[in-house]
Amino acid sequence: MTPAAVRWARPGRLQQVVLGDVVVTYVPDGFVELDPGAWFSRDDPNRVFRTHKELLGDAGMLVASVGVLLLEGPGWRLLVDAGLGPTRVPASDTHPALGAMHGGDLVDHRPRLRDVDAVVVTHWHDDHVGWARAGWPGFGNLREAPHLVGTGEPAPSHWGRVSDGDEVAPGVRVLATPGHTAGHVSLVVAGTEQRLVVLGDVMHSPVQVAQPHLGSCFELDAHESRRSRSRVLDELAVPGTLGAATHFADVPFGVVRGGRWEPSDGASMVVPPPG
Ligand SMILES: [Zn+2]
Repeated sequence: MTPAAVRWARPGRLQQVVLGDVVVTYVPDGFVELDPGAWFSRDDPNRVFRTHKELLGDAGMLVASVGVLLLEGPGWRLLVDAGLGPTRVPASDTHPALGAMHGGDLVDHRPRLRDVDAVVVTHWHDDHVGWARAGWPGFGNLREAPHLVGTGEPAPSHWGRVSDGDEVAPGVRVLATPGHTAGHVSLVVAGTEQRLVVLGDVMHSPVQVAQPHLGSCFELDAHESRRSRSRVLDELAVPGTLGAATHFADVPFGVVRGGRWEPSDGASMVVPPPG
């Protein structure tokens, strides 16, 4: 495989995009392996997905990165999602559709996550709430930052609730995308030069950009989930729009061109560690 191709089958590394006055950094926490046959089994009974060898890691598993997004604008810092947390589970102890779960890498990036104003969690699943549920040990006052989640998610009562259209930071609006879970939210970020859509778990693989009828085996409502994928693809089709898909291996930032997810030009540079 060429070095570029390897990116589709390895966990995401630290990288960022600049939208003008807003900088978005993907900060890695680990990965979850997905069984390519089981994951899309409902909508892909013939397991065509297995033919996408470029997306499969050494064990023949789809590599779903786990990470958080740090959004930094003039005078504000917003964190999206809370990773898998300090946990590692061998493949033998996970759901049949999953392989190994490997969290904990966020500790290497603690200095980067200081002084966050708020945390928005796209939905209440283990790989998005891990560090918040663990109490953010060693992450300074991150634990005290307001935590927000979509209306309908089974989060603690002291967490704030957000709905479609709510502005959670200057130029950052909630896009309600239910289906994967009842209160799942995506975000639309308006920078001065480009805009970006944070997908959340509306999609788990770039294959779904070309084949949006494919839903995962963990959808709460398959029809609603399909509608949400369609809504997000409409947003991604607006000129000047990037996407952030935290589960897309080492290609979390992309653009949709010709019905495909392509790494966004100049956007996937690996940023150096904080000095
Ligand atoms: Zn997820």
